[in-house]
Amino acid sequence: MPDVTVVGGGPAGSLSARLLAASGLDVVVLEEHKQAGVPMHCAGMLSPETIRLSGVQPEILGTVNSADVIFPDGRVLEVGRRTPMIYAVDRADLDRKLADKACEFGADFRYGVKCNRAVTDSKCATVDTNAGTIRSDIVVGADGPSSKIALSVGHNLPLEIIVGMQTDIKYRMEDQERMVLRLGSSVAPGFFSWQLPMGDITRVGLCVSPPLRPADYLKNLLKISGLEDREKVQKFSGKIPIGGRRTSYANRTLLIGDAAGQIKPVSGGGLFPIFKAAPILNDTVNSAYNLGVFNSSVLALYERGWKKAFGREISKGARMRSLYTKMDDEQMNYVGKLFDTPEIKDSLGMIDFDDPSNVVRPILSQKGIKTGMLKVYLGKGR
Ligand SMILES: Cc1cc2nc3c(=O)[nH]c(=O)nc-3n(C[C@H](O)[C@H](O)[C@H](O)COP(=O)(O)OP(=O)(O)OC[C@H]3O[C@@H](n4cnc5c(N)ncnc54)[C@H](O)[C@@H]3O)c2cc1C
Repeated sequence: MPDVTVVGGGPAGSLSARLLAASGLDVVVLEEHKQAGVPMHCAGMLSPETIRLSGVQPEILGTVNSADVIFPDGRVLEVGRRTPMIYAVDRADLDRKLADKACEFGADFRYGVKCNRAVTDSKCATVDTNAGTIRSDIVVGADGPSSKIALSVGHNLPLEIIVGMQTDIKYRMEDQERMVLRLGSSVAPGFFSWQLPMGDITRVGLCVSPPLRPADYLKNLLKISGLEDREKVQKFSGKIPIGGRRTSYANRTLLIGDAAGQIKPVSGGGLFPIFKAAPILNDTVNSAYNLGVFNSSVLALYERGWKKAFGREISKGARMRSLYTKMDDEQMNYVGKLFDTPEIKDSLGMIDFDDPSNVVRPILSQKGIKTGMLKVYLGKGR
């Protein structure tokens, strides 16, 4: 019987497996697909710090140090800096490298194994799969936005799900260091769209809230961007669970990544939280082994740990998202006008993609901004 069964061989599963195996535990990873990294769902926008935390070097497809933020009335806010804001990475390559590294540390990856549910009792955690049952001391649910393991611990759906779609187009953007973000109800209601330079390829995508369909908006976005007639190389879609879940632990069970709802609500980025959460998960599992106790009172250490590490950022982001989703196009245009000053654009240029709320204070300290934003908060500001 392995010590730990990790369900899901994405970044959350692979990094957790690597750390647990490096601690000397016997780890099995169950992945429903035939290989790591496919199908791919992600835009691959990662900060330099996120790449560092991953412990591997994924292929870099683009380096972005500035952005044109386009408001519904066409106003363009150019924000930027000299150093890289984000990298566009080959996400499939990142997943593969994370899985390979976990294998190097001794994790046993079993591909083509789909898990249906997990049950726990005082003796073990039992995972039901299409290839039989697997028993272990602990199960780690790293099975993404539609996690079966998250639901095995009772009512634990994410608060909100948004859906994204993106396509890679054969087109070389003139400025290879500048991405384009578009806001507004006709482009990506409740979220934003992105256009990323990746050499001879441009990645274009967006997210919307169901029942809206991202495919309808993507078509319009390509038209607005003048890219509708360009050759599409590939297309991906995926869900992003936003707003957290009720719990990330239970008896003999820990959840990580999308399965735990560890997503940045403003950007929809999930990799930075994963890479911060995995070492905390590993420490918690090791504490449980030291004590020989695998119940929820010991595993609660994990949730306390990750909430201390980045929970505040998630809750601040959730408040920012709540205000953002209430704004109509006229209010967005009003904010665009308010923010169109050299000082605020400088502050926005310094944004930390892993902690975007760090720009709130410098922005609010600018003359007239607090009053303007209060108007927006009160449903005015048009
Ligand atoms: C359109 C889009 C764009 C995004 N862009 C970014 C971005 O630019 N930057 C960023 O940081 N984040 C981005 N994200 C979010 C990011 O992709 C996720 O947060 C991240 O993939 C979560 O990793 P994970 O390991 O938790 O889950 P996943 O990557 O979903 O991996 C889960 C794994 O579990 C497997 N699995 C699922 N169910 C089972 C089962 N029952 N049995 C066995 N295996 C199972 C899956 O096959 C998969 O391999 C984006 C998401 C979307 C949808």
